[in-house]
Amino acid sequence: MAHIAFIGLGNMGGGMAANLVKAGHAVRAFDLSEAALAKAEANGCSRAGSAAEAIGGAEAVITMLPAGKHVRDVYESSVIGQAPTSAILIDCSTIDVATAREEIGKAESAGYQMVDAPVSGGIAAAEGGTLTFMVGGEAAAFERARPLLEQMGKAVIHAGGAGAGQAAKICNNMLLGASMIATCETFAMAQKLGLDLQTFYDISSKASGQCWSMTTYCPVPGVGPTTPADRDYEGGFASALMLKDLRLAMEAAQSVDAYTPMGAHAEELYTRFADHLGGGGKDFSAIIRMIDDSWSR
Ligand code: NAD
Repeated sequence: MAHIAFIGLGNMGGGMAANLVKAGHAVRAFDLSEAALAKAEANGCSRAGSAAEAIGGAEAVITMLPAGKHVRDVYESSVIGQAPTSAILIDCSTIDVATAREEIGKAESAGYQMVDAPVSGGIAAAEGGTLTFMVGGEAAAFERARPLLEQMGKAVIHAGGAGAGQAAKICNNMLLGASMIATCETFAMAQKLGLDLQTFYDISSKASGQCWSMTTYCPVPGVGPTTPADRDYEGGFASALMLKDLRLAMEAAQSVDAYTPMGAHAEELYTRFADHLGGGGKDFSAIIRMIDDSWSR
């Protein structure tokens, strides 16, 4: 059992902290939201009045915050220089690679071990303890973080040095965004060409066009396994979060001069769908409705 400070108990952090409690740890929780804190308390965490109070005496500090600016604020105002230097620092938020590297650098200069450990898997995986963690940082820091991450996930992979977890996450999600759009336009065209869509699914999921966005997460209602498309595109991975990740990917691409025309186009299309057409709250496969309105209600 360890004393863990957990900061950021929203949709994802709430379930993750609850799994650490179930694994027998003493989790001291802090969030700016009263509702998030009350839920964490109901799940067995103890409530802290501030981030600084949560981290006093902690052996591990875990953060699950919205974006880079929140991570920078929390680490620079309440964690670095205030947590015991023996604590392992683990940031699970999805943020830009540059901020992740900067904060890990600052933490290491102050004598801490720290990793970036963003996740793949949504709210259900956070609650069920089946997240995939992609981790960046020194090998020794990874080995210290691994047992805790294993209690919240089904796979924990060391991606490389500081920021490599974030790099892997945005590369993966850039591919996912582009492949979802390609899947949507393909089904829209197949329909217009008169193909039966389940038959086309059966063919293409066994042929060279096969990809996860089609075979496992088909955006067409009633085709393939049950997916958010069968629930009016509710639940799943929100288009607004896909757009956030595509923006991070484009920022990263620019910083290393990578040519990413498909990623750039995916970002443009998700901007149109999430920001201009009000689709941000729907699952990211709902972008099929922008491509062809046959699937709109
Ligand atoms: P969320 O907005 O539900 O939760 C974030 C929490 O952080 C909120 O409760 C907020 O009050 C709290 N917070 C913000 N600033 C704070 C501060 N200074 N001190 C303490 N608490 C603070 O977001 P989420 O859906 O839980 O996502 C968290 C991270 O996980 C994001 O980076 C997101 O991109 C990533 N992610 C989300 C999903 C998903 O499906 N929701 C999947 C994979 C990754």
